[in-house]
Amino acid sequence: MARIYNFSAGPAMLPEEVLKEAAEEMLDYRGCGMSVMEMSHRSKVYQQIIDEAEADLRKLVGIPDNYRVLFLQGGATLQFGMIPMNLMTVNKKADYIHSGVWTKKAMQDAKFFGQVNVAGSSEDVQFRRVPDVKSLKLDPEADYVYMCDNNTIYGTKFKEYPDTGKVPLICDMSSCFLSEPIDVKKFGMIYAGAQKNVGPAGVTIIIIRDDLVERSKELPLPVYLRYAPHVENGSMYNTPPTYGIYICGKVFKWLLATGGLEKRKELNEAKAKILYDYLDSSSFYRPSVEKDSRSLMNVTFRTPSDELDAAFLEGAKKYKFTNLKGHRSTGGLRASIYNAMPIEGVKALVKYMKEFEDEHK
Ligand SMILES: *Cc1c(COP(=O)(O)O)cnc(C)c1O
Repeated sequence: MARIYNFSAGPAMLPEEVLKEAAEEMLDYRGCGMSVMEMSHRSKVYQQIIDEAEADLRKLVGIPDNYRVLFLQGGATLQFGMIPMNLMTVNKKADYIHSGVWTKKAMQDAKFFGQVNVAGSSEDVQFRRVPDVKSLKLDPEADYVYMCDNNTIYGTKFKEYPDTGKVPLICDMSSCFLSEPIDVKKFGMIYAGAQKNVGPAGVTIIIIRDDLVERSKELPLPVYLRYAPHVENGSMYNTPPTYGIYICGKVFKWLLATGGLEKRKELNEAKAKILYDYLDSSSFYRPSVEKDSRSLMNVTFRTPSDELDAAFLEGAKKYKFTNLKGHRSTGGLRASIYNAMPIEGVKALVKYMKEFEDEHK
C-alpha cells in the first residue's frame, strides 16, 4: 500500500513514523493488553500519556510556568465562544483584528457577550494580505485583542505581532501551531485545533496565562464552558479526547527528535520557497496573496482561468495528489504543506505544475 501526497488543509497529513508507531500499539499498548482507545482516562497508564504529552509540549515550545496547557474538545470553533464568555468579562469589550472567515466567525460569537471593535481589517482587499499591525486602532481598556495568525483559507500569515501593551493578546494558531518557534510570553492565550498541523481532529490545544484563567473562576456558566474547571482538573474534568491526545503526544516527540521548532521553521521555509519561487517565475500561475503576507503552510494560487483550475485538479489525479482545490469561499488552488508534508511532496507538485504549464500556456 502506497501513501500519497495529501495537500489537505485539514484534517491533514501526519508523520508516517507516528502512524506506524500507533499502528504497532493499536491492539496492545505496551503490554497493557488493550488499545489506548479502550483505556480508562483515570488509569495510571493514561495519566502518564497525558502528562508526557504536556511535558513534551512545554519543552518543545518553551512554555513559561505561569501558563496552563489544556487539551479540550469542540474544535477551534468552540473557542470562538469560550474566549468572549470567559474573558470579555471585565470591561465587556474587545478588539478584533479581522483577517478573514475565521475572525469573522469569532466576532459573530463575541457579539453575544460584549462590544466587538474591529481594530484593523483587510476585508477591503478580500483578505489577500493581513492587516498592518502598526496601524491598528487599539483600545487600552479592551479585555483582550484577538487575532488569527495563519489564515488557512487565503494563505496569509502575520510576520509580526501587534504590541498590545497590558492588554492580553489572544491568538488562533490553528493552522501554524508548531510550524515555527513561539514566544509564548507575548500572548495571554494561544489555541489551536489539532487537525491542521498537529494531530487528529477532536483535540484543541490551549495555552493560557494564569491571570486569564482567574477571570473565568466565578462566572455563571456551564462547567465545560469555563477554563478554570479544566485547569483545576488537568484537562480531565470530564473524559478528554484520549486517543487524539495520545497521537498529539507522539507528534510532539517526533518534533523534539527531529530538531525542534527552529529546525522545523527552516524546513518549512525551504519547502514553501520551492513553491513560491516557482510561482514567481511563472507567467502562467498567479499567487493569490500579497508577497509580504505569504503563509508557509497554505500556498494559494491560480491558473489563468477557472476552467484551467479544474483541469489542473483533474490532471493531479494521475499523480494521486489530493485536496489541491481552494476553499469554497475563494476558489482557485491551494496546497497545504504542513509539518508532515515531506519536501519530496512539494518537489513532485512543482514538477507537475511545470508539466501542466508547458501543456497549457
Ligand atoms: C480550521 C480552522 C478553524 C476551525 O477549526 P474547527 O476545529 O473546525 O473548529 C479555526 N481557525 C483556523 C485558523 C482554522 O484553520
